[in-house]
Amino acid sequence: MRLNGFSFYPEKVFPEKNKVRWRCTRRTCRAYAHTLHDRIFALSNVHTHEPPVVSQCLSTNQRSFTHAALATQAKAILNDS
Ligand SMILES: [Zn+2]
Repeated sequence: MRLNGFSFYPEKVFPEKNKVRWRCTRRTCRAYAHTLHDRIFALSNVHTHEPPVVSQCLSTNQRSFTHAALATQAKAILNDS
């Protein structure tokens, strides 16, 4: 499910109680929500990160990849000399 642009996955489902424990899809993030009969009754929508925006995530990944590649290249040059 989605909440304010953040996506949550069902960490634990209690079918007999119609209860679901949701966790932020970012594993390091501690935000959670509990739903009962599809209604939120407990919520901690405090995230340690920005809401995931697909295009933003991709460009960030590409940037860090480029940085990593540059660092590797620089290292290789340093090792050569
Ligand atoms: Zn989060």
